[in-house]
Amino acid sequence: MADQHPDTTAITAGRDESGSLAPVLWPSTTWQSTGLDESNAAAVAVHETGNYARYANPTVREFENAVAALESAEDALATSSGMGAIATAIFALCSTGDHIVAQKQLYGGTLALLNGPCKRLGIDVSFVDGSTPGTFASAVRPGKTMLVIAETPSNPQLALTNLDEIGAIKGPYTMVDSTLATPLGQSPLRHGVSLVMHSATKGIAGHNDAMLGVLAGEKDLIDAIWSYSVLHGATASATDALNGLRGIRTLGVRFARQCDTALKVARELESNPGVRRVNYPGLESHPQHALAKSQMRGFGTVLSFEIMGGVDKARALMNKLAIVRPAVSLGGPETLICHPATSTHVSMSPEDQQSAGINDGLLRLSIGLEDTSDVIADLQHALQ
Ligand SMILES: *Cc1c(COP(=O)(O)O)cnc(C)c1O
Repeated sequence: MADQHPDTTAITAGRDESGSLAPVLWPSTTWQSTGLDESNAAAVAVHETGNYARYANPTVREFENAVAALESAEDALATSSGMGAIATAIFALCSTGDHIVAQKQLYGGTLALLNGPCKRLGIDVSFVDGSTPGTFASAVRPGKTMLVIAETPSNPQLALTNLDEIGAIKGPYTMVDSTLATPLGQSPLRHGVSLVMHSATKGIAGHNDAMLGVLAGEKDLIDAIWSYSVLHGATASATDALNGLRGIRTLGVRFARQCDTALKVARELESNPGVRRVNYPGLESHPQHALAKSQMRGFGTVLSFEIMGGVDKARALMNKLAIVRPAVSLGGPETLICHPATSTHVSMSPEDQQSAGINDGLLRLSIGLEDTSDVIADLQHALQ
C-alpha cells in the first residue's frame, strides 16, 4: 500500500463498512447508548463516533480518514472551514507569552488572525520571508516558539517554501498550509512537518459547495488538537464532509487537468505584451522552479500575474472577461479571477501589501475545467 499512487488512494480511502460506494450522510447530532456505562465510555473516548457530533460524526470521520490516507498521516481532524482549522491549531497549541514564526506571504485571513486576535491574547508573532532559505529557523526562539506556520505555494504570490527546511525545525510544532497544492500536489508530512492543513473548501471539495477545513498529522498531535477543538467548536458539518469526500473521488482527474491548463495559460500570459510578470511554479521563469520540481508532484491550479497599468487596467480587464468569472475562492470547476489587493488581502496596509508582493496590478487566476483554449482566448481578448 505504501507505493500506491495518490490518484488510487483518492478512490480507495475513506470507506465505511456498509458497502455503499457513495459516502453516507449521517445528519445525527447524538447517538443512543445502552445505559450509564456505555454513556460514560463514550464521554471519555477520544475522537470516536457514537456519542455526540461535536466530538465525532461518522461522515466527517470518513472524510478525515480519506485525507489522512492521502497525506500519509496517522489521523486527521476536519473543521468547519480552513480558518477553523488554522484557529483551532493555533489556540490548541499556543498560550499567552508563546511565540509563533510565520511567513509574511500568507492567506489574508491567517494574517489577520495572527495580527489581531493572536497579538491581542499576548501571542507574539514574527514574520519572515518564506522563500528566503534559513529565515524560519533563525527566527525560532528556543523554549518560546511553539508553532511555525508556512504556506506553500503561497496565495496569491505563488512563492514556495522549502518543505525540507520546515520539516528540519525541531522544538516548535510546524504547520504547512498546503491548500494550493492539494494532497495530490505535495506531501508536507513526508518532509518531517508536524501538521498539514487544507482549506478543503477549495480543491479538495472542488465544487464550490462545501465550507471545510482539515488538519492531518501524527495521532497524538491530532488527539491533542481534537480535545481543544471540541471546546473551540469549529466543527465540520456532515453535509460539507460528504461533499468533501465526494470531491476527493475526482480530485485526481480534476487536479491533473487544472494543472495542465494552468501551465498553458501561464505560458500564454508570459508571452503577452500587456503582462509584466507571471507567477506559477511550473514556469521555468519562476525563481523557485527547481524547488517546485523537487517537492511538488503537480504545480497547482492557481497562478497570478501582474499587468501593466495598475488597478484601473485590472478593473477593465475583469469587466471584459466572458468565461473567466470575477470571484474569490479557488479549486472549483469555473475559472475565477480576483484582484487580491482589493479583495482577499484588503485587510493589509498598503505597506504590508507591497512587502508581501501584492501590488495594484496583481491578478489571481484559479483555473477551472473549461476547455483550455477557451480560457486562453478569453484572456487574450480581454488583454487586447
Ligand atoms: C481559502 C484559504 C484559507 C481559508 O479557508 P476557508 O475555508 O475559506 O476558511 C486558508 N488558506 C488558504 C491558502 C486559502 O486559500
